[in-house]
Amino acid sequence: MALASWAAMGGIDETEVAIVGAGPAGLVLAHLLAARDIDCVVLEQRDRAYVEHRVRAGVLEHPTVELLRELGLAERLEREGLAHRGIQLAVDGIRHRIDFVELTGRSITLYGQQEVVKDLIAARLAGGGQIVFEALDVAPTAIDTDRPVVQYRHDGVARTLRCRIVAGCDGSYGVCGPLVADRTVTEHTYPFAWLGVLAEAAPTQDELVYASHDRGFALYSMRSPTVTRLYLQVAPDEQLAAWSDDRIWDELATRLPVGDGFRLNTGPIIDRGITAMHSSVATPMRHGNLLVAGDAAHIVPATGAKGMNLAIADATVLAAVIDDALRGGRPEHLADYTPTCLRRVWRTQHFSHRMTTMLHRFDDDAFRRQLQRTELEIVTSSVAAATDLAEHYVGLPFATLAERAT
Ligand SMILES: Cc1cc2nc3c(=O)[nH]c(=O)nc-3n(C[C@H](O)[C@H](O)[C@H](O)COP(=O)(O)OP(=O)(O)OC[C@H]3O[C@@H](n4cnc5c(N)ncnc54)[C@H](O)[C@@H]3O)c2cc1C
Repeated sequence: MALASWAAMGGIDETEVAIVGAGPAGLVLAHLLAARDIDCVVLEQRDRAYVEHRVRAGVLEHPTVELLRELGLAERLEREGLAHRGIQLAVDGIRHRIDFVELTGRSITLYGQQEVVKDLIAARLAGGGQIVFEALDVAPTAIDTDRPVVQYRHDGVARTLRCRIVAGCDGSYGVCGPLVADRTVTEHTYPFAWLGVLAEAAPTQDELVYASHDRGFALYSMRSPTVTRLYLQVAPDEQLAAWSDDRIWDELATRLPVGDGFRLNTGPIIDRGITAMHSSVATPMRHGNLLVAGDAAHIVPATGAKGMNLAIADATVLAAVIDDALRGGRPEHLADYTPTCLRRVWRTQHFSHRMTTMLHRFDDDAFRRQLQRTELEIVTSSVAAATDLAEHYVGLPFATLAERAT
């Protein structure tokens, strides 16, 4: 369906799918729909520069990379992404490798979420797709009908976008999730947060190091050959101002396994932030012709490196059910969306919770600490246990139509 021109429709635009949010979920969905010749418009409240420079996740699962390749969106990722064969778990300063390639035949790729977002935006615009940046006061209405409407403001002018489906990909603070009137939210808050920094310091090795330490968890990660990404477990109410650069580097050097041949390069810190460790799942993920995806429906703690991958996995299911509804004449298949997504969502919650509870320090709980050490010993000594971790870390296959829960 061609977009009606502004002039002809007096400021009313029309599309098949209105996508709210230009994060990984919304942008991948836009590409998947375009590949199926389904018309869509993305409405994003921030400007382009802001979304292209927002530092967040950086671990791409194997299925995510495969999908981006299939969509022809992996050219720069292939060139600049860092392929990792596995990860390391450091327990009491001693490193243990989990070799994903050996255990599963698959690997992961380190490539910043903001780089994924840049690539998706550039390709979408080059292909003639519509992304409206700085779309303010976005308000989907009539979602119970087969003609939903999304109202918003752009350049100070009120706009109306008529559509068949609204895809709510607007993250955890978006407007779409709460419109699912009968949703139930199941959640869990962990008693700690992550202080994350991006540093202009060349990584000293090509694998992530997850460190379990009596002073708290630390993660050594990277984004490029010149940029390191580092995390420290901190109190949930920690203030950024309390962490000078020196204090950050000292604490990292204490918690990371520097005595075990590991080297930590330091350098200017170019980005820093504190992220709560929280899990939530909102269900159902659909209300009428509004379907929500990614962080708009669920949050996972970052320990499993799953948030962006899970958002993209939702988008693959969403594109398939929208295709069925709009092209296949089977609108009843929209009902498959929630149960199909929830299988992966809960598997991912389980994995992320397991990684989180295995590696973080819980205050003065000696019994839990002993159980953690035992679990770490099992994972680092049993091939079966390591394979289970590796399979989940590299990513479960995306749900096919045949696997849909109905
Ligand atoms: C602060 C933060 C730090 C994170 N750090 C890490 C990390 O270090 N490692 C890790 O593995 N994972 C991390 N994550 C998780 C991961 O980045 C997310 O799971 C991922 O971004 C989810 O993608 P999404 O497309 O669902 O949502 P988002 O990426 O949040 O995208 C939603 C988009 O919708 C837009 N939007 C919101 N409201 C509206 C509205 N009303 N109208 C129009 N547009 C709107 C937003 O501007 C945004 O562009 C982090 C998440 C957050 C929030």
